[in-house]
Amino acid sequence: SELMKVPETEIIRTLFFKGMAVNITQTLDVDTIEMIARDFDMTVETPSTQSAAIKTTEMIDVSDWESLQRRPPVVTIMGHVDHGKTTLLDSIRKTKVAQGEAGGITQHIGAYHVDVEHNGKPEQIVFLDTPGHEAFTAMRARGARVTDIAVLVVAADDGVQPQTKEAISHARAAEVPIVVAINKVDKPSANPDRIKQELTEQGLVAEDWGGETIMVPVSALRGENLDNLLEMILLVAEVEELVANPDRLAKGTVIEANLDRTKGPVATLLVQNGTLRVGNSIVAGSVFGKIRAMIDDRGQKVEAATPSFAVEILGLSDVPAAGDEFDVYESEKEARSIADQRAIEQRNTRLQQALSSRRVSLSTLSIQAQEGQLKELNLILKADVQGSVEAILGALKQLPQNEVQIRVLLASPGEITETDVDLAAASGAVVVGFNTTLASGARASADREGVDIRDYNIIYKLLDDIQGAMEGLLDPEE
Ligand code: GDP
Repeated sequence: SELMKVPETEIIRTLFFKGMAVNITQTLDVDTIEMIARDFDMTVETPSTQSAAIKTTEMIDVSDWESLQRRPPVVTIMGHVDHGKTTLLDSIRKTKVAQGEAGGITQHIGAYHVDVEHNGKPEQIVFLDTPGHEAFTAMRARGARVTDIAVLVVAADDGVQPQTKEAISHARAAEVPIVVAINKVDKPSANPDRIKQELTEQGLVAEDWGGETIMVPVSALRGENLDNLLEMILLVAEVEELVANPDRLAKGTVIEANLDRTKGPVATLLVQNGTLRVGNSIVAGSVFGKIRAMIDDRGQKVEAATPSFAVEILGLSDVPAAGDEFDVYESEKEARSIADQRAIEQRNTRLQQALSSRRVSLSTLSIQAQEGQLKELNLILKADVQGSVEAILGALKQLPQNEVQIRVLLASPGEITETDVDLAAASGAVVVGFNTTLASGARASADREGVDIRDYNIIYKLLDDIQGAMEGLLDPEE
Protein backbone atom coordinates (compact mmCIF):
# COMPACT_ATOMS: atom_id res chain seq x y z
CA SER A 1 0.00 0.00 0.00
CA GLU A 2 2.78 2.39 0.86
CA LEU A 3 4.77 1.69 -2.29
CA MET A 4 1.69 1.84 -4.52
CA LYS A 5 0.19 4.83 -2.74
CA VAL A 6 -3.14 3.03 -2.70
CA PRO A 7 -5.05 2.82 0.61
CA GLU A 8 -4.89 -0.55 2.35
CA THR A 9 -8.66 -0.81 2.41
CA GLU A 10 -8.72 -0.43 -1.35
CA ILE A 11 -6.35 -3.37 -1.76
CA ILE A 12 -8.33 -5.50 0.65
CA ARG A 13 -11.51 -4.64 -1.21
CA THR A 14 -9.97 -5.54 -4.58
CA LEU A 15 -8.89 -8.91 -3.25
CA PHE A 16 -12.24 -9.47 -1.62
CA PHE A 17 -14.00 -9.13 -4.96
CA LYS A 18 -11.61 -11.72 -6.35
CA GLY A 19 -12.71 -14.07 -3.63
CA MET A 20 -9.69 -13.65 -1.38
CA ALA A 21 -10.41 -12.63 2.20
CA VAL A 22 -7.23 -11.06 3.56
CA ASN A 23 -6.49 -8.90 6.54
CA ILE A 24 -4.20 -5.97 6.99
CA THR A 25 -1.33 -7.80 8.68
CA GLN A 26 -1.21 -10.68 6.25
CA THR A 27 1.78 -11.21 3.97
CA LEU A 28 0.87 -11.75 0.33
CA ASP A 29 2.77 -13.95 -2.08
CA VAL A 30 4.40 -12.58 -5.20
CA ASP A 31 1.68 -13.83 -7.57
CA THR A 32 -1.00 -12.00 -5.62
CA ILE A 33 1.09 -8.87 -5.39
CA GLU A 34 1.59 -8.93 -9.16
CA MET A 35 -2.12 -9.40 -9.69
CA ILE A 36 -2.95 -6.39 -7.53
CA ALA A 37 -0.31 -4.32 -9.27
CA ARG A 38 -1.83 -5.18 -12.66
CA ASP A 39 -5.24 -4.06 -11.45
CA PHE A 40 -3.78 -0.68 -10.58
CA ASP A 41 -1.73 -0.51 -13.78
CA MET A 42 1.57 -0.94 -12.08
CA THR A 43 4.34 -3.48 -12.54
CA VAL A 44 6.30 -5.26 -9.86
CA GLU A 45 10.03 -5.48 -10.28
CA THR A 46 11.82 -8.14 -8.35
CA PRO A 47 15.60 -8.13 -8.59
CA SER A 48 16.46 -11.68 -9.67
CA THR A 49 18.66 -12.44 -6.67
CA GLN A 50 15.75 -11.71 -4.41
CA SER A 51 12.96 -13.54 -6.14
CA ALA A 52 14.12 -16.87 -4.72
CA ALA A 53 13.77 -15.62 -1.18
CA ILE A 54 10.35 -14.17 -1.78
CA LYS A 55 9.27 -17.43 -3.32
CA THR A 56 10.59 -19.63 -0.55
CA THR A 57 9.47 -17.94 2.62
CA GLU A 58 6.49 -16.28 4.15
CA MET A 59 8.83 -14.67 6.62
CA ILE A 60 10.06 -11.99 4.27
CA ASP A 61 8.01 -9.10 2.94
CA VAL A 62 8.45 -6.27 0.54
CA SER A 63 9.93 -3.95 3.14
CA ASP A 64 12.90 -6.28 3.51
CA TRP A 65 13.91 -6.25 -0.14
CA GLU A 66 16.40 -3.44 0.21
CA SER A 67 18.28 -5.03 3.08
CA LEU A 68 18.45 -8.72 2.23
CA GLN A 69 21.65 -10.57 3.11
CA ARG A 70 22.78 -14.16 2.78
CA ARG A 71 21.94 -16.44 5.68
CA PRO A 72 23.11 -19.97 6.57
CA PRO A 73 21.00 -22.94 5.44
CA VAL A 74 18.78 -24.72 7.98
CA VAL A 75 19.03 -28.48 7.50
CA THR A 76 16.87 -31.39 8.67
CA ILE A 77 18.14 -34.96 8.62
CA MET A 78 15.59 -37.54 7.51
CA GLY A 79 15.57 -41.23 6.65
CA HIS A 80 14.50 -44.71 7.70
CA VAL A 81 14.93 -45.84 11.29
CA ASP A 82 18.40 -47.24 12.07
CA HIS A 83 19.92 -45.83 8.91
CA GLY A 84 22.12 -43.56 11.02
CA LYS A 85 20.39 -40.18 11.42
CA THR A 86 21.32 -39.77 15.08
CA THR A 87 24.86 -41.01 14.54
CA LEU A 88 25.31 -38.59 11.65
CA LEU A 89 24.03 -35.63 13.68
CA ASP A 90 26.26 -36.58 16.61
CA SER A 91 29.32 -37.10 14.56
CA ILE A 92 28.98 -33.86 12.59
CA ARG A 93 28.52 -32.11 15.88
CA LYS A 94 31.49 -33.82 17.49
CA THR A 95 33.93 -33.18 14.70
CA LYS A 96 32.75 -29.66 13.96
CA VAL A 97 31.64 -28.17 17.23
CA ALA A 98 33.45 -29.76 20.12
CA GLN A 99 36.92 -29.33 18.73
CA GLY A 100 38.49 -26.08 19.83
CA GLU A 101 35.49 -25.03 21.91
CA ALA A 102 36.26 -24.19 25.48
CA GLY A 103 35.50 -27.36 27.39
CA GLY A 104 33.50 -28.63 24.45
CA ILE A 105 30.29 -28.34 26.45
CA THR A 106 27.25 -28.60 24.29
CA GLN A 107 23.70 -27.85 25.16
CA HIS A 108 20.72 -29.58 23.65
CA ILE A 109 18.41 -26.85 22.40
CA GLY A 110 16.90 -28.62 19.37
CA ALA A 111 19.30 -27.13 16.85
CA TYR A 112 22.99 -26.55 16.48
CA HIS A 113 25.30 -24.82 14.07
CA VAL A 114 28.63 -25.84 12.63
CA ASP A 115 31.39 -23.75 11.10
CA VAL A 116 32.63 -24.88 7.73
CA GLU A 117 35.12 -23.40 5.34
CA HIS A 118 33.67 -23.11 1.87
CA ASN A 119 35.56 -21.66 -1.10
CA GLY A 120 38.08 -20.26 1.34
CA LYS A 121 35.42 -18.41 3.33
CA PRO A 122 34.04 -19.28 6.77
CA GLU A 123 30.41 -20.33 6.53
CA GLN A 124 27.84 -21.91 8.77
CA ILE A 125 25.18 -24.59 8.60
CA VAL A 126 22.35 -24.93 11.10
CA PHE A 127 21.05 -28.45 11.83
CA LEU A 128 17.70 -29.09 13.44
CA ASP A 129 18.60 -31.95 15.71
CA THR A 130 15.30 -33.72 16.05
CA PRO A 131 15.96 -36.44 13.53
CA GLY A 132 13.13 -38.09 11.70
CA HIS A 133 10.42 -36.56 9.66
CA GLU A 134 7.82 -36.65 12.42
CA ALA A 135 9.06 -33.31 13.70
CA PHE A 136 9.34 -31.98 10.18
CA THR A 137 5.83 -33.12 9.30
CA ALA A 138 4.32 -31.89 12.53
CA MET A 139 5.72 -28.44 11.95
CA ARG A 140 4.66 -28.40 8.35
CA ALA A 141 1.16 -29.45 9.33
CA ARG A 142 1.06 -26.29 11.43
CA GLY A 143 2.13 -24.23 8.45
CA ALA A 144 5.69 -23.71 9.60
CA ARG A 145 8.44 -23.88 7.07
CA VAL A 146 11.76 -24.14 8.81
CA THR A 147 13.91 -26.37 6.63
CA ASP A 148 15.91 -25.19 3.63
CA ILE A 149 17.59 -28.48 2.79
CA ALA A 150 16.80 -32.09 3.70
CA VAL A 151 19.61 -34.57 4.13
CA LEU A 152 18.23 -38.01 3.34
CA VAL A 153 20.19 -40.74 5.07
CA VAL A 154 20.08 -44.15 3.35
CA ALA A 155 22.05 -47.07 4.79
CA ALA A 156 24.18 -48.60 2.06
CA ASP A 157 23.59 -52.10 3.42
CA ASP A 158 19.84 -51.78 3.63
CA GLY A 159 18.60 -49.60 0.80
CA VAL A 160 15.41 -47.65 0.24
CA GLN A 161 12.84 -48.49 2.92
CA PRO A 162 9.28 -47.28 3.64
CA GLN A 163 10.39 -44.29 5.71
CA THR A 164 12.94 -43.37 3.06
CA LYS A 165 10.08 -43.05 0.59
CA GLU A 166 8.00 -41.12 3.08
CA ALA A 167 10.85 -38.71 3.73
CA ILE A 168 11.22 -38.14 -0.01
CA SER A 169 7.50 -37.36 -0.34
CA HIS A 170 7.60 -34.97 2.59
CA ALA A 171 10.62 -33.08 1.28
CA ARG A 172 9.04 -32.90 -2.18
CA ALA A 173 5.73 -31.66 -0.84
CA ALA A 174 7.57 -28.92 1.04
CA GLU A 175 9.66 -28.16 -2.05
CA VAL A 176 12.82 -28.68 -0.06
CA PRO A 177 15.89 -29.84 -2.01
CA ILE A 178 17.34 -33.21 -1.00
CA VAL A 179 20.98 -34.13 -0.50
CA VAL A 180 21.47 -37.87 -0.08
CA ALA A 181 23.96 -39.26 2.43
CA ILE A 182 24.66 -42.87 1.54
CA ASN A 183 25.65 -44.05 4.99
CA LYS A 184 27.47 -47.04 6.46
CA VAL A 185 29.81 -47.38 3.50
CA ASP A 186 32.37 -48.81 5.93
CA LYS A 187 30.35 -52.01 6.10
CA PRO A 188 31.55 -54.88 3.93
CA SER A 189 27.98 -55.47 2.78
CA ALA A 190 27.60 -51.84 1.66
CA ASN A 191 26.54 -51.42 -1.93
CA PRO A 192 26.26 -47.72 -2.86
CA ASP A 193 25.42 -48.46 -6.48
CA ARG A 194 22.42 -50.48 -5.47
CA ILE A 195 21.25 -47.50 -3.37
CA LYS A 196 21.63 -45.18 -6.34
CA GLN A 197 19.63 -47.62 -8.44
CA GLU A 198 16.84 -47.78 -5.87
CA LEU A 199 16.78 -44.02 -5.48
CA THR A 200 16.53 -43.62 -9.25
CA GLU A 201 13.31 -45.60 -9.03
CA GLN A 202 12.10 -42.93 -6.61
CA GLY A 203 12.99 -40.18 -9.04
CA LEU A 204 16.24 -39.16 -7.39
CA VAL A 205 19.03 -39.62 -9.93
CA ALA A 206 22.62 -39.19 -8.81
CA GLU A 207 24.71 -36.52 -10.51
CA ASP A 208 27.32 -39.02 -11.66
CA TRP A 209 24.50 -40.96 -13.28
CA GLY A 210 23.40 -37.92 -15.23
CA GLY A 211 20.83 -36.70 -12.72
CA GLU A 212 20.60 -33.71 -10.42
CA THR A 213 20.70 -35.17 -6.94
CA ILE A 214 23.88 -34.88 -4.96
CA MET A 215 24.70 -38.17 -3.26
CA VAL A 216 27.60 -38.41 -0.84
CA PRO A 217 28.93 -41.72 0.49
CA VAL A 218 29.70 -41.37 4.20
CA SER A 219 30.37 -43.33 7.31
CA ALA A 220 28.64 -41.54 10.12
CA LEU A 221 30.10 -43.97 12.63
CA ARG A 222 33.71 -43.38 11.60
CA GLY A 223 33.20 -39.74 10.69
CA GLU A 224 34.33 -40.37 7.12
CA ASN A 225 33.60 -37.95 4.30
CA LEU A 226 31.49 -35.67 6.45
CA ASP A 227 33.41 -32.61 5.23
CA ASN A 228 32.38 -33.48 1.73
CA LEU A 229 28.74 -33.78 2.81
CA LEU A 230 28.85 -30.36 4.49
CA GLU A 231 30.51 -28.89 1.41
CA MET A 232 27.69 -30.23 -0.77
CA ILE A 233 25.05 -28.81 1.57
CA LEU A 234 26.64 -25.39 1.15
CA LEU A 235 26.71 -25.85 -2.60
CA VAL A 236 22.97 -26.50 -2.65
CA ALA A 237 22.44 -23.55 -0.29
CA GLU A 238 24.27 -21.30 -2.73
CA VAL A 239 21.83 -22.22 -5.49
CA GLU A 240 18.88 -21.64 -3.19
CA GLU A 241 19.98 -18.05 -2.53
CA LEU A 242 18.86 -18.03 1.06
CA VAL A 243 18.47 -14.50 2.33
CA ALA A 244 16.92 -12.50 5.14
CA ASN A 245 16.99 -8.99 6.50
CA PRO A 246 18.99 -8.82 9.75
CA ASP A 247 18.09 -5.14 10.27
CA ARG A 248 14.58 -5.50 11.57
CA LEU A 249 12.65 -6.94 14.49
CA ALA A 250 12.91 -10.70 14.50
CA LYS A 251 10.37 -13.27 13.47
CA GLY A 252 10.59 -17.02 13.07
CA THR A 253 9.37 -20.31 14.45
CA VAL A 254 9.32 -22.06 17.81
CA ILE A 255 11.15 -25.35 17.31
CA GLU A 256 11.00 -26.70 20.85
CA ALA A 257 9.32 -25.63 24.06
CA ASN A 258 8.86 -27.05 27.50
CA LEU A 259 8.32 -26.15 31.10
CA ASP A 260 11.53 -26.35 33.07
CA ARG A 261 11.12 -26.92 36.78
CA THR A 262 13.63 -24.26 37.74
CA LYS A 263 13.73 -21.94 34.73
CA GLY A 264 10.01 -21.81 33.93
CA PRO A 265 8.83 -21.83 30.29
CA VAL A 266 11.77 -22.40 27.94
CA ALA A 267 11.61 -22.30 24.15
CA THR A 268 14.05 -22.64 21.30
CA LEU A 269 13.37 -20.10 18.60
CA LEU A 270 14.68 -20.31 15.08
CA VAL A 271 15.18 -16.78 13.78
CA GLN A 272 14.05 -16.65 10.16
CA ASN A 273 14.15 -12.92 9.59
CA GLY A 274 15.49 -9.98 11.56
CA THR A 275 17.64 -10.11 14.66
CA LEU A 276 16.40 -11.32 18.02
CA ARG A 277 17.75 -9.57 21.11
CA VAL A 278 17.67 -9.85 24.87
CA GLY A 279 15.00 -7.49 26.18
CA ASN A 280 12.75 -7.90 23.10
CA SER A 281 8.99 -8.15 23.63
CA ILE A 282 7.72 -11.15 21.73
CA VAL A 283 4.58 -13.08 21.00
CA ALA A 284 5.06 -16.80 20.31
CA GLY A 285 1.79 -18.38 19.22
CA SER A 286 -0.49 -16.80 21.79
CA VAL A 287 2.14 -16.48 24.51
CA PHE A 288 3.66 -13.17 25.53
CA GLY A 289 7.27 -12.83 26.62
CA LYS A 290 10.02 -10.38 27.35
CA ILE A 291 13.32 -12.07 26.66
CA ARG A 292 15.36 -12.32 29.86
CA ALA A 293 18.21 -14.40 28.53
CA MET A 294 19.28 -16.26 25.40
CA ILE A 295 21.54 -19.30 25.29
CA ASP A 296 23.03 -20.80 22.15
CA ASP A 297 23.76 -24.44 21.31
CA ARG A 298 27.19 -24.16 22.88
CA GLY A 299 25.74 -23.19 26.22
CA GLN A 300 26.87 -19.57 25.85
CA LYS A 301 24.79 -16.59 26.82
CA VAL A 302 24.24 -14.44 23.77
CA GLU A 303 22.82 -10.96 23.33
CA ALA A 304 21.59 -11.32 19.74
CA ALA A 305 20.63 -14.00 17.24
CA THR A 306 20.69 -13.31 13.50
CA PRO A 307 18.76 -15.13 10.73
CA SER A 308 18.98 -18.96 10.65
CA PHE A 309 20.30 -19.18 14.19
CA ALA A 310 18.44 -20.89 16.98
CA VAL A 311 18.56 -19.83 20.61
CA GLU A 312 16.91 -20.99 23.77
CA ILE A 313 15.08 -18.13 25.43
CA LEU A 314 13.82 -17.44 28.92
CA GLY A 315 11.11 -14.98 29.83
CA LEU A 316 7.94 -16.40 28.26
CA SER A 317 4.75 -16.28 30.31
CA ASP A 318 3.70 -19.75 29.18
CA VAL A 319 4.82 -22.63 26.98
CA PRO A 320 4.13 -22.12 23.25
CA ALA A 321 3.79 -25.05 20.82
CA ALA A 322 6.52 -26.24 18.48
CA GLY A 323 5.70 -24.89 15.05
CA ASP A 324 4.17 -21.66 16.40
CA GLU A 325 5.33 -18.50 14.71
CA PHE A 326 6.92 -15.82 16.87
CA ASP A 327 7.17 -12.08 16.27
CA VAL A 328 8.97 -9.29 18.07
CA TYR A 329 7.08 -6.06 18.70
CA GLU A 330 8.23 -2.52 19.22
CA SER A 331 6.43 -2.12 22.53
CA GLU A 332 5.67 -4.46 25.37
CA LYS A 333 2.13 -3.16 25.51
CA GLU A 334 1.47 -3.99 21.87
CA ALA A 335 2.94 -7.48 22.29
CA ARG A 336 0.81 -8.14 25.36
CA SER A 337 -2.40 -7.08 23.72
CA ILE A 338 -1.69 -9.15 20.60
CA ALA A 339 -0.97 -12.21 22.75
CA ASP A 340 -4.24 -11.69 24.64
CA GLN A 341 -6.15 -11.31 21.40
CA ARG A 342 -4.62 -14.51 20.00
CA ALA A 343 -5.40 -16.41 23.18
CA ILE A 344 -9.06 -15.44 22.86
CA GLU A 345 -9.15 -16.43 19.19
CA GLN A 346 -7.50 -19.74 19.99
CA ARG A 347 -10.01 -20.51 22.70
CA ASN A 348 -12.87 -19.68 20.36
CA THR A 349 -11.60 -21.99 17.63
CA ARG A 350 -11.14 -24.71 20.19
CA LEU A 351 -14.68 -24.23 21.36
CA GLN A 352 -15.99 -24.21 17.80
CA GLN A 353 -14.17 -27.45 17.11
CA ALA A 354 -15.49 -28.98 20.29
CA LEU A 355 -19.04 -27.95 19.49
CA SER A 356 -18.95 -28.99 15.86
CA SER A 357 -17.39 -32.38 16.45
CA ARG A 358 -19.87 -35.15 16.93
CA ARG A 359 -17.62 -36.59 19.54
CA VAL A 360 -18.81 -36.07 23.07
CA SER A 361 -15.96 -36.55 25.45
CA LEU A 362 -15.27 -35.44 28.96
CA SER A 363 -12.76 -32.93 27.67
CA THR A 364 -15.12 -31.35 25.11
CA LEU A 365 -17.76 -31.20 27.81
CA SER A 366 -15.18 -29.53 29.99
CA ILE A 367 -14.59 -26.85 27.38
CA GLN A 368 -18.33 -26.27 27.14
CA ALA A 369 -18.51 -25.98 30.92
CA GLN A 370 -15.70 -23.45 30.85
CA GLU A 371 -17.72 -21.36 28.44
CA GLY A 372 -20.83 -21.69 30.60
CA GLN A 373 -22.61 -23.66 27.89
CA LEU A 374 -22.92 -26.97 29.64
CA LYS A 375 -26.09 -27.54 31.65
CA GLU A 376 -26.16 -31.30 31.94
CA LEU A 377 -23.53 -33.97 31.96
CA ASN A 378 -24.91 -37.29 30.77
CA LEU A 379 -23.31 -40.44 32.09
CA ILE A 380 -23.62 -44.14 31.57
CA LEU A 381 -22.08 -46.04 34.45
CA LYS A 382 -20.93 -49.64 34.39
CA ALA A 383 -19.14 -51.22 37.34
CA ASP A 384 -17.96 -54.60 38.51
CA VAL A 385 -20.62 -55.17 41.17
CA GLN A 386 -23.87 -53.61 42.35
CA GLY A 387 -22.07 -52.39 45.48
CA SER A 388 -19.67 -50.27 43.42
CA VAL A 389 -22.53 -48.89 41.33
CA GLU A 390 -24.28 -47.70 44.46
CA ALA A 391 -21.13 -46.32 46.03
CA ILE A 392 -20.35 -44.30 42.90
CA LEU A 393 -23.93 -43.05 42.48
CA GLY A 394 -23.87 -41.95 46.10
CA ALA A 395 -20.60 -40.11 45.67
CA LEU A 396 -21.74 -38.44 42.42
CA LYS A 397 -24.77 -37.07 44.29
CA GLN A 398 -22.40 -35.34 46.69
CA LEU A 399 -20.72 -33.36 43.91
CA PRO A 400 -21.85 -29.72 43.73
CA GLN A 401 -24.34 -29.39 40.89
CA ASN A 402 -25.54 -25.79 40.87
CA GLU A 403 -23.93 -24.97 37.50
CA VAL A 404 -24.00 -28.34 35.79
CA GLN A 405 -26.30 -31.25 36.62
CA ILE A 406 -25.25 -34.86 36.40
CA ARG A 407 -27.76 -37.11 34.66
CA VAL A 408 -27.12 -40.79 34.98
CA LEU A 409 -28.91 -42.46 32.08
CA LEU A 410 -27.97 -45.96 33.03
CA ALA A 411 -26.11 -47.48 35.94
CA SER A 412 -25.61 -51.20 36.24
CA PRO A 413 -23.04 -53.85 37.00
CA GLY A 414 -21.42 -55.65 34.07
CA GLU A 415 -19.27 -55.19 31.02
CA ILE A 416 -19.52 -52.16 28.78
CA THR A 417 -21.48 -53.41 25.79
CA GLU A 418 -22.25 -52.16 22.31
CA THR A 419 -25.74 -51.30 23.50
CA ASP A 420 -24.28 -48.99 26.15
CA VAL A 421 -22.21 -47.30 23.46
CA ASP A 422 -25.24 -46.89 21.20
CA LEU A 423 -27.18 -45.30 24.01
CA ALA A 424 -24.29 -42.97 24.77
CA ALA A 425 -24.00 -41.96 21.12
CA ALA A 426 -27.72 -41.28 20.85
CA SER A 427 -27.87 -39.19 24.00
CA GLY A 428 -24.52 -37.43 24.01
CA ALA A 429 -23.29 -39.27 27.05
CA VAL A 430 -19.91 -40.39 28.28
CA VAL A 431 -19.46 -44.01 29.31
CA VAL A 432 -17.73 -44.46 32.62
CA GLY A 433 -16.49 -47.90 33.61
CA PHE A 434 -15.31 -48.90 37.06
CA ASN A 435 -13.30 -52.10 37.48
CA THR A 436 -14.99 -53.52 34.43
CA THR A 437 -14.07 -54.54 30.89
CA LEU A 438 -15.31 -53.94 27.37
CA ALA A 439 -17.45 -56.52 25.65
CA SER A 440 -16.31 -57.46 22.16
CA GLY A 441 -17.29 -54.89 19.58
CA ALA A 442 -17.80 -52.11 22.12
CA ARG A 443 -14.46 -50.40 21.42
CA ALA A 444 -14.90 -50.50 17.65
CA SER A 445 -18.38 -49.15 17.94
CA ALA A 446 -17.24 -46.37 20.31
CA ASP A 447 -14.55 -45.33 17.84
CA ARG A 448 -17.03 -45.37 15.01
CA GLU A 449 -19.65 -43.36 16.83
CA GLY A 450 -17.26 -41.03 18.60
CA VAL A 451 -18.14 -42.09 22.12
CA ASP A 452 -15.74 -41.47 24.97
CA ILE A 453 -15.25 -44.50 27.21
CA ARG A 454 -13.41 -43.88 30.46
CA ASP A 455 -12.02 -46.70 32.57
CA TYR A 456 -11.29 -46.26 36.23
CA ASN A 457 -10.25 -48.45 39.09
CA ILE A 458 -10.00 -45.78 41.74
CA ILE A 459 -13.22 -44.06 42.76
CA TYR A 460 -11.72 -40.73 43.73
CA LYS A 461 -9.99 -40.46 40.32
CA LEU A 462 -13.33 -41.05 38.61
CA LEU A 463 -14.98 -38.39 40.76
CA ASP A 464 -12.09 -36.00 40.20
CA ASP A 465 -12.42 -36.22 36.44
CA ILE A 466 -16.18 -35.78 36.45
CA GLN A 467 -15.93 -32.80 38.76
CA GLY A 468 -13.07 -31.39 36.68
CA ALA A 469 -15.20 -31.64 33.54
CA MET A 470 -18.17 -29.98 35.24
CA GLU A 471 -16.00 -27.11 36.34
CA GLY A 472 -14.33 -26.77 32.96
CA LEU A 473 -10.97 -27.63 34.40
CA LEU A 474 -10.19 -30.86 32.65
CA ASP A 475 -7.04 -30.83 30.55
CA PRO A 476 -8.23 -30.52 26.92
CA GLU A 477 -5.63 -33.08 25.82
CA GLU A 478 -7.16 -35.83 27.90
P1 GDP B 1 18.65 -43.62 13.36
O1 GDP B 1 17.56 -44.51 13.84
O2 GDP B 1 18.49 -43.34 11.89
O3 GDP B 1 18.88 -42.39 14.16
O4 GDP B 1 19.99 -44.52 13.40
P2 GDP B 1 21.17 -44.49 14.47
O5 GDP B 1 22.03 -43.31 14.29
O6 GDP B 1 20.61 -44.76 15.82
O7 GDP B 1 22.03 -45.75 13.98
C1 GDP B 1 21.54 -47.08 13.98
C2 GDP B 1 22.67 -48.05 14.11
O8 GDP B 1 23.53 -47.97 12.98
C3 GDP B 1 23.55 -47.78 15.32
O9 GDP B 1 23.91 -49.01 15.89
C4 GDP B 1 24.76 -47.09 14.72
O10 GDP B 1 25.93 -47.33 15.47
C5 GDP B 1 24.86 -47.75 13.37
N1 GDP B 1 25.50 -46.85 12.39
C6 GDP B 1 25.19 -45.58 12.12
N2 GDP B 1 26.00 -45.07 11.19
C7 GDP B 1 26.86 -46.06 10.85
C8 GDP B 1 27.96 -46.15 9.93
O11 GDP B 1 28.33 -45.23 9.22
N3 GDP B 1 28.58 -47.36 9.86
C9 GDP B 1 28.23 -48.43 10.60
N4 GDP B 1 28.90 -49.56 10.47
N5 GDP B 1 27.20 -48.37 11.50
C10 GDP B 1 26.53 -47.20 11.61
